[in-house]
Amino acid sequence: MLINMNEMLKVAEKHQFAVGAFNATESSLFRAVVEEAENSNSPAIIQVAPGEFDFATREFYTYVKERLAESRVPFVLHLDHGKSLEHCMKAIQAGFTSVMIDGSELSYEENIRISKEVTELAHMVNVSVEGEIGTIGVMDNSDEGGVRNVTYTNPEDVTEFVSQTNVDCLAIAIGTAHGIYPKEFKPKLRLQLLREIKAVSSVPLVLHGGSNNPDEEIREACKIGIRKVNISSDFKYAFFKKVNEVIEETGGFIPAKVFTPGILEARKVIRQKMELFGSLGKAECYR
Ligand SMILES: [Zn+2]
Repeated sequence: MLINMNEMLKVAEKHQFAVGAFNATESSLFRAVVEEAENSNSPAIIQVAPGEFDFATREFYTYVKERLAESRVPFVLHLDHGKSLEHCMKAIQAGFTSVMIDGSELSYEENIRISKEVTELAHMVNVSVEGEIGTIGVMDNSDEGGVRNVTYTNPEDVTEFVSQTNVDCLAIAIGTAHGIYPKEFKPKLRLQLLREIKAVSSVPLVLHGGSNNPDEEIREACKIGIRKVNISSDFKYAFFKKVNEVIEETGGFIPAKVFTPGILEARKVIRQKMELFGSLGKAECYR
C-alpha cells in the first residue's frame, strides 16, 4: 500500500505512535526496511535525500514504487531534505507521494516563501509536504547535511509557519544531529521544548537525526507527540558492519552470501526502532 504522508501520519496521530522513516538508496537496504515492516506488520516510510536520489537513478524508483504499492502494509515514498523546487519536482515526477522542502538554512521569510511554493504545486497532485523550522546538527559521517550550531525551533513561529505555508507535517529542532555521534558527544533532547511546540502545532511533528540517541529519550519524544522519526545511520551501520565481517571471514563476493547476513542485521535494528516508536502491529490501523 503506497499512501501519502498526510494519510500516514493522520492515523499515527489518532493512535499515538510514530512511524520510522528510513533512508534507503539501493535494493539491499530497501529490502531490509520493507521486509521488516511486513514481518512486524508496521507502517514505514522509505526516504531518500537528493544526493541519494541521484545515486540510485530515477529508474530505481519504478521498482520501489511497485514493491511498496503491492505490499499489504502502508508505506510512504518521501524525498528527504529537498533544498529546491527542482529537487521536489524530480521526486514527484518519479512517483514519490511526499516531499520535504528544507528551507531551514534560509531566512525565516524565504523559508515561508519556498515552502508555500512547493506546497501549492505538490498538493495539486496529492503529494504531501514536510517543512522545517530550526536547524538540525550534523556529524562528519552523515550525508543529509545540517549545521554545526543548532538553532532550536521557536514555538512562537510554528502556528504562523504552518498557516502561511500549508505544510502537512513539520520537522523541528530540539537537539538532534544527523549521523553517528562521537563518543564524547552527549546528545540531549529538549523534551520540554517539544511539549511547548506540540501544544501549538496543528500538524504532526517530525524528528530528524534519530540515530544514536538514547532509546528512552526517543520513546518519550514519541509519547509527547513526535509522529515521524528519521533513521539513517543506525541501520546502515549494522548492515555494512556485517557485510565487512562476512567479506573478511570468507573472502566471498557472491551478493546473496555477502548481503543476506547484512540485511538480517539491519532488520534487527529496524525492528528495535519500530518498537521504540510504538509502530509494531500498527499496519492494522490502516485497513
Ligand atoms: Zn534530516
